[in-house]
Amino acid sequence: MEYKIAVLRGDGIGPEIVDAAVGCLDAVARRFGHTFQYSYPLIGGAAIDTTGIPLPQETIDACRSAGAVLLGAVGGPKWDSLAGHVRPEKGLLSLRSALGLYANVRPALLYDQLRSASPLRRDITQNGMNLVVVRELTGGIYFGPRGYREGKEGQEAFDTEVYSIAEIERIAVIAFQIAMGRRKKITSVDKANVLESSRLWRATVNRISQRYPEVTVEHMFVDNCAMQLVKDPSRFDVLLCPNMFGDILSDEAAMLTGSIGLLPSSSLGGTKLGLYEPIHGSAPDIAGTDTANPIATILAAAMMLSSSFDLLEETVAIEKAVNAVLSKGYRTADIYTPGDKKVSCSQMGEKIALEIRKAK
Ligand code: NAD
Repeated sequence: MEYKIAVLRGDGIGPEIVDAAVGCLDAVARRFGHTFQYSYPLIGGAAIDTTGIPLPQETIDACRSAGAVLLGAVGGPKWDSLAGHVRPEKGLLSLRSALGLYANVRPALLYDQLRSASPLRRDITQNGMNLVVVRELTGGIYFGPRGYREGKEGQEAFDTEVYSIAEIERIAVIAFQIAMGRRKKITSVDKANVLESSRLWRATVNRISQRYPEVTVEHMFVDNCAMQLVKDPSRFDVLLCPNMFGDILSDEAAMLTGSIGLLPSSSLGGTKLGLYEPIHGSAPDIAGTDTANPIATILAAAMMLSSSFDLLEETVAIEKAVNAVLSKGYRTADIYTPGDKKVSCSQMGEKIALEIRKAK
């Protein structure tokens, strides 16, 4: 079969980690007899440097005409002094909106082989950690009214958290559907003791839950959730979060698995077209050194194969290959401990691609 993928390499470590993931997709293509047709549109700082804007129309068109989008990361100090609307990060936010992607799904799995890389004590990690953060992506405080105004004590700035019932309903439905395929437990995160938008969030989640009687629902304040994640992450299955809380908690969950370089994510809307990317940024501090961990991006490519193309066996082949390479002791710098075999970003990609090709 033939599949079209828009590959957005982006900035910083983006090109390095994306190239490693494309190498793994090529290995999948060879093993399973598929053809992946790649296009390489520009986004972020790379697009600003070439076209003056972070998301050219050709990039939106290329993504819309593809079956899925694979992204590295955008941003970096080179573009930090630009105005907000021409910053690299604006390109990604606008792309998610243009493609109607409102649900960000971020699985956080602690690999047995990487327990020593987790900052948690062994008596905590022995129970394992296998959760999914379902983060609302196109609403909340990142998109609400904002600005500057004259306050009582001079100039002040404000951002506003806004959620409609429809926005909460559609993200809740995705979380319940994911929970049905897992351990059937949802923790809905809010700050309903303080925020009006959170009280609407809680009431709406409760209403949607009536359609899914098999799923257990608990509500948790975000501050408590941040604490419980560190105390016992094994208690969580699906974390359903508004935009900002999900942004923060998923980074926390990422670190508990050993490194932010391990966690993939998918951004989904109502169609098969999804955007797949690591949860981390462009890591300018290590860009160009071939030391980044490409596993998050490789696992994002794996999510893409099942979610957008229904290639379930191919997804499992990538996940097994990552497991096999970790079991053989290969580690990039971020998850390295003495005694491991240290490899570069490109070497890690090649080792995983090799496992994909030779696995039965
Ligand atoms: P970051 O995630 O890029 O980096 C945080 C830390 O984690 C750094 O020390 C970095 O070296 C390390 N790290 C990240 N990914 C890694 C990997 N794959 N392997 C090894 N180490 C890794 O976050 P930041 O430093 O806050 O942001 C840097 C830039 O990225 C900023 O311009 C920010 O706006 C942008 N950003 C982009 C995205 C995105 O494209 N989706 C997301 C977050 C941040």
